[in-house]
Amino acid sequence: MKEQVLWSIDADSMPPLEAPHALPDHVDVAVIGGGLTGLSAALSLARGGASVALFERETIGWGASGRNGGQVSVGAKRRPESWVREYGHEMAVALWSASVGSVAHVESLIEREGIDCHYRRAGLLAVAWRPEHFGHQAAHQKYMADTFGYHLELIPPLSLAAEIGSDGYHGALLDEFAGSLDPYRFTRGVAAAAQRAGAALFEGTEVTALTRIGSDHQVVTGRGTVRAAEVLVATNGYTGPVTPWLQRRLVPVGSHIIATEPLGRELAESCLPRRRVVYDTKKTLFYFTLSADDRMVFGGRASWTQVDAQRSGAIMHRHMVRLFPQLAMARIEYTWTGNVCFTRDFDPHIGYRDGYHFCAGYCGHGVALATYLGALVAGRLRGDGADSPFFHLKDPPPIPLYDGRPWFLPLAGGFYRAHDLLK
Ligand SMILES: Cc1cc2nc3c(=O)[nH]c(=O)nc-3n(C[C@H](O)[C@H](O)[C@H](O)COP(=O)(O)OP(=O)(O)OC[C@H]3O[C@@H](n4cnc5c(N)ncnc54)[C@H](O)[C@@H]3O)c2cc1C
Repeated sequence: MKEQVLWSIDADSMPPLEAPHALPDHVDVAVIGGGLTGLSAALSLARGGASVALFERETIGWGASGRNGGQVSVGAKRRPESWVREYGHEMAVALWSASVGSVAHVESLIEREGIDCHYRRAGLLAVAWRPEHFGHQAAHQKYMADTFGYHLELIPPLSLAAEIGSDGYHGALLDEFAGSLDPYRFTRGVAAAAQRAGAALFEGTEVTALTRIGSDHQVVTGRGTVRAAEVLVATNGYTGPVTPWLQRRLVPVGSHIIATEPLGRELAESCLPRRRVVYDTKKTLFYFTLSADDRMVFGGRASWTQVDAQRSGAIMHRHMVRLFPQLAMARIEYTWTGNVCFTRDFDPHIGYRDGYHFCAGYCGHGVALATYLGALVAGRLRGDGADSPFFHLKDPPPIPLYDGRPWFLPLAGGFYRAHDLLK
């Protein structure tokens, strides 16, 4: 098992991004973080005529954006019922339809910029881990139709074999609108579009400090200092001490993925005959999909404590074979981990604090939302006056006794494991 992200193994054959520019003295907007949030914002800002410098500590797409499960889903981590309780029916419906718009936004961006990222309207299957979960799914299907006018298809246990070649599940709920893509190719494609629009992308450039000087910001980086009229922090699950207020509101949680060797079409489709993207209904859930070259890409949380990618790979392998015994002889070629970024209320947040703008906290639903909200926050920075229900969510709530080191995760993990055993 190589400790490498499957999606980036052929990075060398992709069109290279432009070589680094000289650092400008002053820009309209400095963006920190070269993932989908930062790149999408940079693209939108540059297209609107702003001068933009984006700083990425590693390489473009190194973070969650280039290493995720490739599921382009509608909605957010927080359940729509919970939006209704907290914000009322009208705002919940507006949030839901904006999240539908986020998938449409990804699709039109791919088309407009000609991004080759194997995008498909694959359909997202939520598979029931326990028989009673299927009952909850039936109730949810009705709720979504009645309250949000949104259609989900219920797949009863007897019809499940047409969707998934595993005895581990008890029915499913299908969202036909969701898609699947190669996340690294997508992220690099958005980066190339941002460059074409005029944004300057600085890889290998860590931002180490932010200070206010009059109405400007001084952005201190490993390459030198830049003055910026506005700053957007787009560091999500890799947020550090440069923005301590935000760091105390974002919890990085490790997620672990493995990819098998290419299985051949027949074996691959014996697992997922319709090549859907899938997740299950456990708290500590698994998510999986087939890559364009017929590998099983299988992810989840191997452990709630820090583990290296070899250990997480071995754990995920056991889980995968238990669900798909037909893969027992398939070699695991790649194993990797990444930080999913959680907030206390499970909502993503766009906001303004200590003079900087931020957009983060997608809780594992960021492929569509980060791309969409990045563009939205760019609109706000340009002052285009566009409104969105996502601007009206409350500020990200603080987490008691949390200073950026998530000491409580093993405890939360114990609770979730017990929950999955009992319910
Ligand atoms: C394993 C995994 C699987 C996932 N699966 C899915 C999925 O299937 N579907 C889905 O919708 N979502 C999924 N997600 C979530 C999704 O990938 C993220 O929500 C989304 O990519 C976040 O994008 P981002 O640009 O905000 O953050 P990121 O892509 O993480 O980018 C943040 C960047 O900031 C950089 N950075 C941090 N600090 C500094 C600094 N001081 N200076 C310069 N740069 C800095 C980091 O190096 C990093 O590259 C998954 C996440 C993980 C980790």
